[in-house]
Amino acid sequence: MSQLKIYNTLARDKQVFVPMEAGKVGMYVCGMTVYDFCHVGHARMMMAFDVIYRWLMASGYEVKYVRNITDIDDKIIKRAVENGESIKQLVERNVMYMDEDIGALNMLPPTVVPRATEYVPQMLSIIEQLEAKGLAYKSEDGDVNYAVRGFEGYGKLSGKSLDDLRAGERVDLKSTKRDPLDFVLWKAAKESEPAEAKWDSKWGKGRPGWHIECSAMCSATLGEHFDIHGGGADLQFPHHENEIAQSEGAFGGEMVNYWIHNGFVRVDNEKMSKSLGNFFTIRDVLKQYDAEVIRFFILRAHYRSPLNYSDAHIDDAKGALNRLYTALSTVDIDAESPTVDWDEEHAVRFREAMDDDFNTPLAVAELFDLAGEVNRSKSLDAARQLKALAGVLGLLERAPQAYLQGGSDAGDAGVDDAISRRAAAKKARNFAEADAIRAELTAAGIILEDKPDGTTTWRRA
Ligand SMILES: [Zn+2]
Repeated sequence: MSQLKIYNTLARDKQVFVPMEAGKVGMYVCGMTVYDFCHVGHARMMMAFDVIYRWLMASGYEVKYVRNITDIDDKIIKRAVENGESIKQLVERNVMYMDEDIGALNMLPPTVVPRATEYVPQMLSIIEQLEAKGLAYKSEDGDVNYAVRGFEGYGKLSGKSLDDLRAGERVDLKSTKRDPLDFVLWKAAKESEPAEAKWDSKWGKGRPGWHIECSAMCSATLGEHFDIHGGGADLQFPHHENEIAQSEGAFGGEMVNYWIHNGFVRVDNEKMSKSLGNFFTIRDVLKQYDAEVIRFFILRAHYRSPLNYSDAHIDDAKGALNRLYTALSTVDIDAESPTVDWDEEHAVRFREAMDDDFNTPLAVAELFDLAGEVNRSKSLDAARQLKALAGVLGLLERAPQAYLQGGSDAGDAGVDDAISRRAAAKKARNFAEADAIRAELTAAGIILEDKPDGTTTWRRA
């Protein structure tokens, strides 16, 4: 049996996964700052870790999966004030929208969903420990900052020295920080800010910086040292670098054994982000496409690769998912919830793919191989295996007929079906029928190409 290997950003290498405690995994993922709707970039991030969570469980681990909610932040305060509502109202509404979106995309709920505002005492305690070790100082503007030059390991996740990192920082002349890389742990309250954004502390009223929130929530839920920490690649620096500085600075020892970062979503070769204005909310996308098509579209790319977002790519994913459902629709499997036969050859290769740093594109290729077998042989066992393996990825869980008739375009599936009928006619030496099917497809703008190996491919004219 293969061994799970994970690309660990900290080691810059794929490593065999060894949990701290046999059979158990603790995983923390930086979740949403809930000031607005989630966009496709967020969906991709949460999907990457949903699949990792599912695969760890399928591999027999008991997983404690923690994904936090940042419910206090500059953007949240600003938006609530703009809307003339309380922070609590804004947060509750956006958490509800987020839960709807990720439920539609068939993501499993994490084991624990801590909210930052519930962990302020733990944050204050870590800041005190840092101050006691000379790693935190209160500056003239009242903020409490982290002193990066006091932490020897700073830059280890990014693989850069302090000087390299400093060179990339803008120098803010008004700053009261001792070093441009120093970051805020506790922000002094401003008069104009709403009362619900202020907490008492020994340094005066204020609120936590973003980085300290995660150090507090992960150590409170998983301990000071745990297995996996994940997030989007854009969080590697400074957010995760700062989390390491805080947690290891305060507690000593290692914080995390495996750091996992997922790739960006790109639109016209630019990163999809709110700040660039080229983002699509999950809600808008789900008005246009079936949620499972979007799930499948995201899973067809490896989690570390850039994901190219375009209608053409999603349409392609839709056609491919239709082919899988169409294969299932040819056998009587609707009411079944089969379990995987892990000794079967497709499952062995599926496992190898997933064990190789969660290689979903290769795992999905096994699903297509099985679908081909179902189409050829109408084997119920192959269909069961297809449905069960797809279920490991949260796919093909609906009854095929229901999916295919559910407003989802079954055009591609219809073509595949016609090609199968034509192949059967040729095999039965009924060439008139075979030619008639080809003529029908040609009339519908479908060009067939017979390959030397006996298979037929098609394209639209
Ligand atoms: Zn975080």
